[in-house]
Formats: sequence, structure tokens, C-alpha cells
Amino acid sequence: MGTEEVIAVDRFADIQVLRYEVPGFDCLTLRQKRLVYYLSEAALWGRDILFDQNGSYNLRIRRLLEAVLPYVPQEADEAERQALLTYLKRVWFSNGIHHHYSCDKLAPGCSEEFLRRCVLATPTAELPLVEGEDVEAMCARLFPVIFRPEVLPKRVNQEDGQDLVATSAANYYEGVTQQEAEDFYARLKDNGNPDRPVMYGLNSRLVKQDGVVKEQVWKIGGMYGPALERIVGWLEKAEEVAENDAQREVIRLLVDFYRTGDLQVFDDYSIAWLRDTESRVDFVNGFIETYGDPLGLKASWESIVNFKDLEATHRTETISENAQWFEDHSPVDVRFKKPHVKGVSAKVITAAMLAGDLYPSTAIGINLPNSNWIRSVHGSKSVTIGNLTTAYGRAARGNGFREEFIADAAELERVNRYADITDDLHTDLHECLGHGSGQLLPGVDPDALKAYGATIEEARADLFGLYYLPDERLVELGLTPDSEAYKAAYYTYMMNGLMTQLVRIEPGCTVEEAHMRNRQLIARWALEQGREEGTVELERRDGKTYVRIHDYVRLRALFARLLAEVQRIKSEGDYEAARRLVEDYGVQVDPQLHAEVLERYRRLDLAPYKGFVNPRYRPVFDEQERLVDVKLDATESFTEQMLRYSRDYSCL
Ligand code: ZN
Repeated sequence: MGTEEVIAVDRFADIQVLRYEVPGFDCLTLRQKRLVYYLSEAALWGRDILFDQNGSYNLRIRRLLEAVLPYVPQEADEAERQALLTYLKRVWFSNGIHHHYSCDKLAPGCSEEFLRRCVLATPTAELPLVEGEDVEAMCARLFPVIFRPEVLPKRVNQEDGQDLVATSAANYYEGVTQQEAEDFYARLKDNGNPDRPVMYGLNSRLVKQDGVVKEQVWKIGGMYGPALERIVGWLEKAEEVAENDAQREVIRLLVDFYRTGDLQVFDDYSIAWLRDTESRVDFVNGFIETYGDPLGLKASWESIVNFKDLEATHRTETISENAQWFEDHSPVDVRFKKPHVKGVSAKVITAAMLAGDLYPSTAIGINLPNSNWIRSVHGSKSVTIGNLTTAYGRAARGNGFREEFIADAAELERVNRYADITDDLHTDLHECLGHGSGQLLPGVDPDALKAYGATIEEARADLFGLYYLPDERLVELGLTPDSEAYKAAYYTYMMNGLMTQLVRIEPGCTVEEAHMRNRQLIARWALEQGREEGTVELERRDGKTYVRIHDYVRLRALFARLLAEVQRIKSEGDYEAARRLVEDYGVQVDPQLHAEVLERYRRLDLAPYKGFVNPRYRPVFDEQERLVDVKLDATESFTEQMLRYSRDYSCL
């Protein structure tokens, strides 16, 4: 009780909004807190850039909806009023008028006449009119974009055979065809340095003016200049309290990039960012991911401010330091083991602020930079965001999902008590040890398993983790609380692989994605092999199917056997065996069970998409106006936060 009320702050359309906690913030030094605060302000000032990138009408439509909100006529129909508010929330959540995930235009839900009445009830001075425009002209301009489904229907169109630039509503091109855009960047690439190619087009809009194709660069003095100036202002404050020289250099180069728009400087910045591994506080702030551009060139603006989670990072370091012990004691044939194995230490971070394209919908891991040549020469930084994973886990507890699908109260109790810990631990074992374990026999082609390679590789890493979860060694190392905890992970793994992951598959389809295939492969194989001994079964009760694990110790022995076999397949490059395992266990779906799972899931009425509200950081000043502390405030609602951001961080 209680927890989920605090963590789930809003629910509308297909969205659930959660609040994440920032554990450890209070233990940062004052200097680090100031750094987080300044970087957070720099993050929030980029919000309007993303709205404009997602579509040229987005900012005006958002402002129009926000302006009329307090003036909705008292006698208005309640359903219309609710529909308008829901539409505004969806626009906030999507950073524009297209769905954040499907890219389809959002349907407003309320009628055109209703919005017109609201507009007429609003003082003209508060409406987002442009120069020389009256209220009627504004409505004539914006209403078709809001209400007519055929106007700008898709933010990013990927349909083969169409002009992707012309048919996408994203604001990255104007007046140019796809061909012209492609020619423009092909020419730039031909003239660039082939060994160290900058990411051409990353930070600009491409337009055709007077017959000439040219870039409007996003920089101070250029497009989005006013917002970038604010961002730089806060970055310069952050530079003063940077933790060390390496971090100071990162901030300085980023400021340089925002001033010049020079992509060479952006590469220098990315390399400096990679080198800064010592700082506790870290951040991303810039034009980063290119999913929003149908041609994959132009990057949407995003920011995350974070600090290292020392405890969780200590956990992955412990695992990684003991990598050789785990390798030596695994149940695989000694010929397939690495004589010298090195564990990977995954970094776990705590998010302190999400912004731009990472807000409110966000990623739970970061792997940057995106530049190919920098990745191959200098590597990349890969982190998981611990406090967001925790928030998702808490939201999953108490939403009815586990109650519906878990077989009985005792299993449910164990899952609720241990699953957060054991799921994280399984992920750590998978990432830090699983993928790095084992070796190919001499002369075996690493691609021998072809299309089945990815599924077999994921199965290998998952099984390595599953095999070790019950091991006494993990209790000794302080990684699991006791020798019961692993049962929670075994139960949820089998339930997911046999049943609940099917909610992500359309009726009539098979399992395609490698991670999903691997989970089903392991769970189905264990079910089949354990059937005679009564280890695991699918139990039918009151027309519903449940996973029943009768013998956890024997289940571990089954995982050990499958791990040995999967490692043999990989080490010997046994394509035929890989094909059989995947095809026999990983691909096909029992249509009856699938339909049952979908129906039970549908009745729970869960939101398919989730996002977050941020905490608010409040500086505390003494009598001499010196900043002496930063306090974290986690009380804002989704609507309050969005209205505040629109009021305090809007200058485009
Ligand atoms: Zn993996």
C-alpha cells in the first residue's frame, strides 16, 4: 500500500505517469548538489527546442491549449472539458501533437466548436497570436492541424516508396525533397575526412530558399539561439563547480559547440565526455538521437543529469572481480571455458533530471556517443539507470498484474519481497559475466549460428545468470539476502517465458525478437524436460492457466543442463542444433494460451506507456545571497510541472 499511490502520479489515455526517487542526493557534497542543480536548469531550458523539432505547429498549439485552460466556460459539457485536458496532457507527454511512440497524430477528443468557444472566452492578450493575426486567422491556421486527421498525419514516416521528408511532420526540413536532402549530405560526406567523419546534418534544419538548399544551424546566434543561450548560461555556472579538470573540459567544449555549431567540436566534446570516468556527477545535454528524422541525420535535443550509484556499482564490481571463480565453477565442459576471463563492470547511475527527448518517456540505459568512428577508436560509455528501473518495479507491484498471473499467495509474497533485488542481480550476472564467459573451439566461425546466433547468445547469458542465482557464493559475497531469494527470479522468469511476455505479441503472430525467443526457449525447454519428474507444470484452474514450480532445486539442475548444451552449440558452432532448439521451443505460440493471456491482461486495463515527473531542486541562500544548500522537492503533479515548465522555461 502507499508506495504505488506515491509513485503513480497521473493516468490518462494510454499513459501512466510515475515519480522516481533520487536516493543519495542528500549525501552529495554541496558542490556536487550545486552542479546537479545548475545542470538541471540547463536541461530544462531545452524543452521548447524539442517541441519545435517535433513539428512546426507544436509550440503554438501547446500555448493555445494552456492559454484557454483557465477560461473553459463554466457551463461547458463535462465530457468536452475532460477531453480537452486529456488532449493537452497528451501533447505535453508527446512533446507535440503526435504520439511519442507510434508517431501518429493525436485525436483531440473534444469538438472544434468547443475549442472555439474556449478561445473566444479567453482574453486576446493571452492567446499565442503572431504579428498581424487576429483570433479568427489564428483559428483558421491552427484548427485544421489539430482537428483534421489528414493534415500532417505522421511525425516520422518510414513507409518505403514515399518521399519520407515531404510526408513527415517533423520540423527538420522545409521545401526540400528527400532526394535533395540526400544529395546535399552525400556531397558533404564526399568532401569530409573519411577516417573521422563528423555526423553531417546533426544540428541543423535543411531548407530551400530562393532555389538554394542550405542549413539553418542550431547555435547561439542561429536557430534556437535564445534557448541555447540560456542553456549555456547555466552550463557556465556548472563549469565553476565542476568536480575536476576533465569534467571542466567537457563543459567548456559543449559550450563551444553551442556557440559555434561546429560538429568537429562536438566530436571533441564526445571524446572528452568518454574520458571523464572519475566524476561522480555526469550529464548528457545536446542533439543526440536521430530517431525523429526519417533520414536518421538530425538529432533531437535531450538531457539527463545523473550521479553514480556507488552501492549498485559496487555490486557489479564484486561480480566482475570474481569472474574467474564463476567461470571455473560453471556446469559447462572444461574445453569450452575461458582459462582467463575478465568480467565487465557495469556502471549504475541515479537519474536526477530528465529533459527533452528523455522526458517524460525515457530510456533505462544509456550507451553513447553515437558517432561510429569515435566508438571504434575511443569506445563508449554504457550505464543503466537504477532509480528508474526501481520505479518501474514499484509500479508493477500493486497494479494487479502479479495478482492475476502468479499461482498463489505464497509465490506472490516471495516475488513482491525479492523480485526487485533478484531481477537486478540476474541482469548484472547476464551483462557482467554471461556474455563474456566461454570460448569457441579453435577454427569455429563466430557467425556459424547465423540467424539463430543472437537468440543462442542471449540464452547463454540468461542461463549463466539463472544457474548462479541460487548459489551459496552469492550469499557469501553479500549479493543475495538469503538462500530463498532466487525462487522469486525463477518463478517470474518461467511465468514470463511461458505466458506473460505474450502480451507484447499480436494475435496470430510468432515470437520474433531475440530476447523474447530466448526466454521462451529456456522456459519451454525446462517445462518439457521437467514434466516427467513433475518439476514444473502449467496448471489449469477456473479456466485460467498458471505456472506451478514444484521443485526449485531440480529446476536449477535443468538450467545447468541447458547451459552446458547451449555453450556446446556456441563453442562448436553447431548450426543444426541451434536451429532445432530455437525453432522447437522459441518461436511458436500456443494460440489458445495466447488468447487467454491477452484477455486477462486486457481486463487489467494497464497503461501500455509510462513516463515520469521530475523532482524539483530548490536552492537555499543565506543572508549574503550565497547558495548554501539545494533541497529536493517531490510533490509536484504532472499538470503542475508541465504548466511551470511552460511558464518558466520558454523563450522560443
Ligand atoms: Zn544480453
